[in-house]
Amino acid sequence: MITALSIAANRKGSESMKTFICSKCGEEKEVQTQCGTGYATDRAGFKTCYDCCADFDREEMMETGKAVLYLDGIAQLTNWPGTLRLPVRYSRHGEHNIAGSRTDIWFQGPDGKEWHGTQYGNFSQLCHCRRLKG
Ligand SMILES: [Zn+2]
Repeated sequence: MITALSIAANRKGSESMKTFICSKCGEEKEVQTQCGTGYATDRAGFKTCYDCCADFDREEMMETGKAVLYLDGIAQLTNWPGTLRLPVRYSRHGEHNIAGSRTDIWFQGPDGKEWHGTQYGNFSQLCHCRRLKG
């Protein structure tokens, strides 16, 4: 990680308006003009390509056992750029006294373990996910 970051920092000078250097894989990638920019920027200002966003999200899920993902319909979970996709194995839709509705989903995480996610209301796709014990 540190190596990739320092490579990215060193190569930052060669960036133009049309390309960016991914802070994770160190590759020079083209800035997309459609469907967003093609990268995410972290707090330190480093740019990360969408493919590596998926790696970051996967690693973070495995490390922390938690994730905030987007529920795409009821069949699929994705990360923000949509590069990480996890199929929902089972979902249950129910009522919630404050949000109106609540969807519970179960899926296999990137660690191969069973995860559970909850999404509230009809206006948000945000799904708070947590690894199940055992
Ligand atoms: Zn990358």
